[in-house]
Amino acid sequence: SPVLVWLRRDLRLHDHAALYHALKSGQPVIPVFVFDTDILAGLPQDDRRVEFIWESLKQLKTELLKHGGDLVVRYGRAVELIPQLVAEFGVSAVYANHDYEPSAIYRDQCVATALAEKGIALHTFKDQVVFERAEVLSKTGGMYSVFTPYKRAWLAQLNDFYLKPYPVVRYLQQLARLPAQYFPSLKELGFARSNLGELNMPVGLAGGEQLFADFCQRIDRYHEARDFPAVKGPSYLSVHLRFGTVSVRELATYAYRHGGAGAETWLSELIWREFYMQILWHRPEVVEHAFKPEYDALPFPNREDWFAAWCEGRTGFPIVDAAMRQLNQTGYMHNRLRMIVASFLVKDLLIDWRWGERYFAEKLIDFDLAANNGGWQWAASTGCDAQPYFRIFNPVSQSEKFDSEGKFIKRYCPELAMLPAKAIHAPWLSKPLEMQAAGITLGVDYPLPIVEHAVQREAALALFRR
Ligand code: FAD
Repeated sequence: SPVLVWLRRDLRLHDHAALYHALKSGQPVIPVFVFDTDILAGLPQDDRRVEFIWESLKQLKTELLKHGGDLVVRYGRAVELIPQLVAEFGVSAVYANHDYEPSAIYRDQCVATALAEKGIALHTFKDQVVFERAEVLSKTGGMYSVFTPYKRAWLAQLNDFYLKPYPVVRYLQQLARLPAQYFPSLKELGFARSNLGELNMPVGLAGGEQLFADFCQRIDRYHEARDFPAVKGPSYLSVHLRFGTVSVRELATYAYRHGGAGAETWLSELIWREFYMQILWHRPEVVEHAFKPEYDALPFPNREDWFAAWCEGRTGFPIVDAAMRQLNQTGYMHNRLRMIVASFLVKDLLIDWRWGERYFAEKLIDFDLAANNGGWQWAASTGCDAQPYFRIFNPVSQSEKFDSEGKFIKRYCPELAMLPAKAIHAPWLSKPLEMQAAGITLGVDYPLPIVEHAVQREAALALFRR
């Protein structure tokens, strides 16, 4: 009798642990994806992630058809649908890859229990990381809460065994021959097209492959280029890592074998990803709480009007506004900018990091609970290995340093396009004549700054000291 492969954040056919093990079982394999209403409920109709998944599944279906298989796509609660599908197809076992987010762990436990009642096993595998859960531990057997020793241990433990790809293609003839499967439209799923099609964001398996090939040409310059948002420095693979349209083993293998400063720095970023995943695994309470309990109840004043200005990109600080508009318009934000806007929200606007974390979770196409929580807690100084609370980014000097010509700012704040580079980072300091020449009236065409950095800096220090 057939077996099911339940796809979740692993939307590819190559180097896929669960698919490999299912195919090797010798039984016909039925790949399934459930648009899970437990996750989708509450998302806006034009959520880019839903469209990304939908487009990726379309590509996956085409590939499966080429190999004589098909993709079963359903809509509803996964905890109910997976046991129902088992009955419908007379399945003997279910295969899936590990997911480390607390709600996913709970979901998988519920499914495993429901299946066990029918005498069916849920087999799960490590797939989305090189090292998972408690595979990299300190000498005393504890989790790492500081990145550098974690990275050292991660690299020391790395060998060919952990990087070896699963040779899925060899076994694809085991795919079940199914009657033609219906593929729902976005509308039938309760969603609509977003602006994903207009963005330069390649989707699905093909998109992941294309972006990775492009990045391989640039990887040697990664360490120098990655901090400048107007430059094509990073890989833009985060959404593909999120939904598993690329294999992390393949990426890590390339970076590890390629070597050099660029590839080493990039491999470090992949290790940061796993660092935060193991933090979430060991300390799931970080989802709602500061990693350092003494910072959990910081008395943030949380001004709602300032929060709205931050969300909408109208704080009057061009680098912050351009970054937030990038997020709102594209669902992506450059890493340097994520650090700048997060620091600005917490330490200039004195707003609880959880508010910013939630906003990012809604908007980021690459939203990943572990990385997002880790990034926010790092910026807010509440996290493990975070930056100390007294280190406060100055948004103007960050802007001068990382977008010196204002190229990035001008892309997202076109109203500032006529300002000369030296004036663009802090327009309120410009001479009235200069502003006039650029055709800008502050407070009319572009906002005046909503706070004064030097004043807020002192307020943040006092708040944290308290
Ligand atoms: P590259 O520079 O090419 O890096 C390669 C990959 O390494 C990324 O795709 C990502 O998977 C991983 N990575 C890089 N930096 C980090 C990091 N600091 N922590 C964990 N993983 C990292 N990343 C997410 O994937 N999802 C999030 O929700 C997310 N939220 C963030 C929130 C804040 C406040 C901050 C400061 C960072 C956040 N990051 C998040 C990390 C980082 O900003 C993005 O991974 C990166 O910008 C994605 O672009 P890229 O794929 O071009 O990155």
